[in-house]
Amino acid sequence: MIVQLDKNISAETINNLQSKLTDIGYEGNEVKTQFDHYMICIGKKPFDIRSIGCLEGVKDIHKVTDPYKLVSRQWKVKNTLIDLGDNVIIGDGHFEIMAGPCSIESPEQVESVVKHLKANGVNIMRGGVYKPRSSPYSFRGLGIEGLKMFHQICSAHGVKIITEVMMTEQIDAMLPYVDIFQVGARNAQNFNLLDALGKTDKAVMLKRGISGTIDELLYAAEYVFSNGNERILLCERGIRSYEKAYRNTMDINAIAMLKEKTHLPVVADPSHGIGVRKFVEPVALASVMAGADAVIMEVHQCPEKAFSDGQQTLDYAQAERTYGKMRAAYQLREA
Ligand code: PEP
Ligand code: MN
Repeated sequence: MIVQLDKNISAETINNLQSKLTDIGYEGNEVKTQFDHYMICIGKKPFDIRSIGCLEGVKDIHKVTDPYKLVSRQWKVKNTLIDLGDNVIIGDGHFEIMAGPCSIESPEQVESVVKHLKANGVNIMRGGVYKPRSSPYSFRGLGIEGLKMFHQICSAHGVKIITEVMMTEQIDAMLPYVDIFQVGARNAQNFNLLDALGKTDKAVMLKRGISGTIDELLYAAEYVFSNGNERILLCERGIRSYEKAYRNTMDINAIAMLKEKTHLPVVADPSHGIGVRKFVEPVALASVMAGADAVIMEVHQCPEKAFSDGQQTLDYAQAERTYGKMRAAYQLREA
C-alpha cells in the first residue's frame, strides 16, 4: 500500500499514522522525494482501506500488490516523464535518441559527434569517462577531466549528457556535469550506489543486470525512488543467455513487459543488446515498436578506430539512417 501524504503534514500526524499502521499489522516506511511525500506500507493482513484513507494528513491511498511499490504501475495512472530542461523530455509521448561513442576519447571526437547530433536533431549525447572493462588492460576512460571537457563542449551546443557513474565516491564531483547518470549492467545491484543516486535530484538510467531479471531491475529502481529521487529511466541492454552467436540476447519482450509493470520510461540499448553493428538498426526498430520511450546507441566518426566497442558502433551515415527509421517507427506505433 502507498499512502500519499499532505504537503505540510506535521511530525505528530506522521506518528499517529505510523501507530495506526502498526495496529493493523503494517510497517510504515516514510519516503520524501523531490515531488511528493509518501508512506510505503508493508504488510499482508487484509484491512479496510478506508480506515487509513480517512486519517488526517492522508492525501490519497493506493493498494499495490506488486512487491516493488513506488515504481509499480498499479498506483500511478499517468506515465512518468523525465524533463531534462530546454524541451528535452523522455517518456509519455516524447521519444528521444541518445547517441555517441562508447568512450569519450578527445575534444576533437566530442566536437565531431556533437556536430553530427546537432545536424540530426539529437539532443542527448552518451559517452563514458569511467569504463567498466572486462580486462584491466583495456582503455578505462578519461575520468573527471574528460567529463569536464565533454560537458564544456556539449553545453556550448545545448546538448545533454548521459554518462556512467561506477562508484558512490564519484557522484559529487560528476554532479555539475551530468544530465543523466547511467548505472551500468555490472552495477545493477550495487545497492550503495543506488541509495546514493536516490539522494540526488539528477535523472538516473538503470541498466538491466547482465543476468538480471525484470523484477531485479524494478527493485533497483525502487531503491532510487525510495531514497528520494523519482527521476528514473530503465534500460534493456540485453542479457546473458546460452546463445554465443552475438554479444548479448536483447530481450525485446522485456520492453513490452516493463511498460506494463511500471510507469517509468523505458530505454532500449540495441548496441550492447546485440553487439553487432549491422544488426543494431533492426534491433533498434524492434525496440521502438515494442514500446521504448528512448533508444541509446553507440555512434563514432570512425568506429574502426573507437577506443571501445567499435564492433557495435555505427558511423554517421548509418546512424542518420537509423535515427530517421526509428522516428518513423515511433510515429507508426503511436498512430
Ligand atoms: C556502455 O554503455 O558503454 C556500457 C558499458 O554498458 P553496459 O553497462 O550495458 O555494459
Ligand atoms: Mn559500450
